Amino acid sequence: MSFDTIGFVGLGLIGGSIAKALKRVHPEKKVIAYNRNGAVLDLAAEDGIVDVAVKDDSGGQKADEILAPFSECDLIFLCVPVVTALDFMDRLKSIMKPGAILTDVGSVKGGIDRYAAEHGLSANFIGGHPMAGSEKTGYQNSKDRLIENAWYILTPGEDVPVKKISDLSDLISRLGALPLVMTSSEHDHVTAAISHLPHVISASLVNLVHDIDGPEKYMHAIAAGGFRDITRISSSSPQMWQEICLSNTDQICGMLDKYISKLLDYRFAIRNENSEELLQIFSDCKEYRDSFDTQAKGSVLREYRIYTDLEDVAGAIAEIAIILANKNISIKNIGIVHNREYEQGVLRIVFYDQAAMDAGISVLEGRGYHIYR
Ligand code: NAD
Repeated sequence: MSFDTIGFVGLGLIGGSIAKALKRVHPEKKVIAYNRNGAVLDLAAEDGIVDVAVKDDSGGQKADEILAPFSECDLIFLCVPVVTALDFMDRLKSIMKPGAILTDVGSVKGGIDRYAAEHGLSANFIGGHPMAGSEKTGYQNSKDRLIENAWYILTPGEDVPVKKISDLSDLISRLGALPLVMTSSEHDHVTAAISHLPHVISASLVNLVHDIDGPEKYMHAIAAGGFRDITRISSSSPQMWQEICLSNTDQICGMLDKYISKLLDYRFAIRNENSEELLQIFSDCKEYRDSFDTQAKGSVLREYRIYTDLEDVAGAIAEIAIILANKNISIKNIGIVHNREYEQGVLRIVFYDQAAMDAGISVLEGRGYHIYR
């Protein structure tokens, strides 16, 4: 399916970024978009991202009627919070073109996949989750390269024809992301471990330090390095994380039970001054953590890193390396970031020290690169 007309319900950070990527790669596609705040649609139309703006000037009185233009769509992205997406799914179901695909971008997949199956959309709905984002929200922060080189998980149900899955997967690839198909329960299990549990742990660490810091606020003042690294994700949207915890409750609680049991083991080893076991714990975790990024072995402690957007063309990384080398700026590490849920910029550059990083930023900004510090 060539997806000549594509709809977006919600044009925030994720919806706006996918729509921008789509118009960059496929300017010929017709984009129909609804957004609660109509001013965003005007802006997107001015940007050339939206061809048909669907506004609700009825104060919600004609909520269903206004969605009629979406009946023309071959593919519709639901890019609103999960609970709202269910509501739109109901409203779009009866007007969708036969054979059209409905997909979403939510961070939890089980509930929405089940809802689609129970509401007659089992052959049309393909759950989606781009593993890219930011702690910022809204269309104004959306970027045409946000999802580039990021994993984009698809969770089709059993009734979805293989052709539909491959068509959507092909489009996602053309937008520059890396499609990965799995079941919704696999998705929720995996993300509970590598995304949801870390958020709960990060929140507990930050709140613990907040609660136990003395009146001098020493902990707050000197919190740096490891503490900042491990808690950086706590700056993301509280509403989104509330929603994720309420939607993936079983998996998150299962992971928390395993985690609490591990913490008790570690506490036991520390209490008993079991030096061998402690060394084993930290050696095992170092070995596994270092293996996440083979190009950056041992780079967990790196401090001098920046991120930049990068065009997905041959030689783009080499060009940056040459610009820096010409100014005698050494790079400790350079590589694409595939899971960018809370990072900005597709390319990570690590320097040896502050001076090299400052010089690197100045040179690259001078050459028109957008740098995220
Ligand atoms: P956002 O706040 O930037 O955009 C949300 C959009 O939903 C806006 O257009 C807003 O107007 C609309 N919206 C919200 N409530 C609505 C309602 N009641 N009725 C109609 N429209 C409503 O948020 P976002 O970051 O783009 O998140 C959207 C989805 O993407 C969420 O489901 C989130 O789980 C998922 N997601 C977010 C990230 C991230 O890091 N931000 C990453 C991956 C997936």
